[in-house]
Amino acid sequence: MTKYIFVTGGVTSSLGKGIISASLAKLLQSRGYRVTIQKFDPYINIDPGTLNPYEHGECYVTEDGAETDLDLGHYERFLNVPTSQANNITTGRIYQNVINQERAGAYLGKTVQVVPHITDEIKRNMRILGESGEYDIVITELGGTVGDIESLPYIEAVRQFRWEEGANNSLVIHLTLIPFLAAAGELKTKPTQHSVKMLLEYGIQPDILVCRTEHHITPEIRRKIAQFCNVNLNAVVESIDAPSIYDVPLLMLKEQLDKTVLAKLKLPQRNEPDLENWKNFLGRLKNPTSEVRIGLVGKYVELPDAYKSITESFVHAGAANECKVRVVCVHSESLTEENVADRLSGFNGVLVAPGFGNRGIEGKIIAIKYVREHNIPFFGICLGMQCAVIEFARNVLNLQGAHSTEMDENTPHPVISMMEEQKKIKNLGGTMRLGSYDCEIKKGSKAASIYGKTSITERHRHRYEFNNDYLADFENAGMIASGINPDNKLAEIVELKNHPFFVAGQFHPELKSTVANPHPLFVSFVAAALAYAKKHV
Ligand code: GLN
Repeated sequence: MTKYIFVTGGVTSSLGKGIISASLAKLLQSRGYRVTIQKFDPYINIDPGTLNPYEHGECYVTEDGAETDLDLGHYERFLNVPTSQANNITTGRIYQNVINQERAGAYLGKTVQVVPHITDEIKRNMRILGESGEYDIVITELGGTVGDIESLPYIEAVRQFRWEEGANNSLVIHLTLIPFLAAAGELKTKPTQHSVKMLLEYGIQPDILVCRTEHHITPEIRRKIAQFCNVNLNAVVESIDAPSIYDVPLLMLKEQLDKTVLAKLKLPQRNEPDLENWKNFLGRLKNPTSEVRIGLVGKYVELPDAYKSITESFVHAGAANECKVRVVCVHSESLTEENVADRLSGFNGVLVAPGFGNRGIEGKIIAIKYVREHNIPFFGICLGMQCAVIEFARNVLNLQGAHSTEMDENTPHPVISMMEEQKKIKNLGGTMRLGSYDCEIKKGSKAASIYGKTSITERHRHRYEFNNDYLADFENAGMIASGINPDNKLAEIVELKNHPFFVAGQFHPELKSTVANPHPLFVSFVAAALAYAKKHV
């Protein structure tokens, strides 16, 4: 029988519910339990696919093509288990399902209401993964902060769910903040007391409090929190600021969060967590023998969350190379022919990021020209790959005005053009080419040596593609399509023959890099940057 853990947040947002959920899941997984994590987001969008990265950070895409919250990326990076559409539900989706049911006549004669119809639909979604039989434990992270108007139906659904599942089959972890008042020199528990009180008003007594703090919590404070919030002493868990998110599982292990959870769910402790590989990773991460600087050229650089999976992939690839990777964001809008040498000269490698629309596009193309001509390792992702194609068309093939039809519908040389199947699509939500697709890699190519195999799958999120009418010209001039989708011949990977490392993909490798499986493209790109750094000391 599946057991359920709910993670709520109090006091303020951004306390790191996703990391705590992923860390707890990691500990339970390392004790041999099959665990998954799902996230419920209280906004009305059906999914975050239509949101600007400035709003909500990166949009994470699953194998089955769901556009989801970036926390799912953390779940996959920690657990090395793929997530799916069922792992991310929004209020928009809940209402859409209920309203569709209403139109279909499922509630004939009845008034459709938040309680019970919306809460029932929430509970049904809370159970989907558990009922698949694939998991012993399902962790459900509730987005938002307790007390938010839009979170109320979720909190009520948790209350009902717990009553239905019976004692010992579910528990609530409340993540809260213990602020430090510098003037008083004290940690303060009152905000936590208040947010627990609010949960109590809604009928939920949290079982465990995870307390985010910048300073260690003294035994007296622990006691005070436990007493005033009505939890056991060992259910007050300190979550102190950590140098890296990857330290958090070990901090939670020290606090015995996994033991407390298993005891409350009446599950056997089984063996001690096997965190050997995790600790090895941390060891390599913390003791680098070298360093590289990577320029990340993009237009959402003001918000680091916009490129979350890319920066995390560099953490994994850095550890694999025992190399510290310093990722420095470069605003593509600020790059010009005049300043590019100055702005990019300090880097050992340049990554051009995914994106949409015209803004900053010329800066990306200028950056690619510079690294191509100066033999600086280059890695392009999605729009980054499309820019590499445009740059090559303009500057090597001399196709003046070559562009993507996304940016210039009337370009004389549409080297990137809209995919045929996309042309008839009117709705913009959830209609890109999304999720995992096959790619066949050319034998003897750089891509083949990087992957060590010729059949791969990667995840996608795009509407435009390389225009194969130009393929022969590109290949004759030295840019080859080394990865091709076997079904529709779409160019998935391009690379340059005469360059130490110039590889770009139409897909998003950053979505598949995990602690256990650093992505080979990132690992080899960092290795190439390292080789470049050594040569150019
Ligand atoms: N805008 C481009 C397309 O839709 C690239 C998308 C991306 O970088 N994810 O094809």
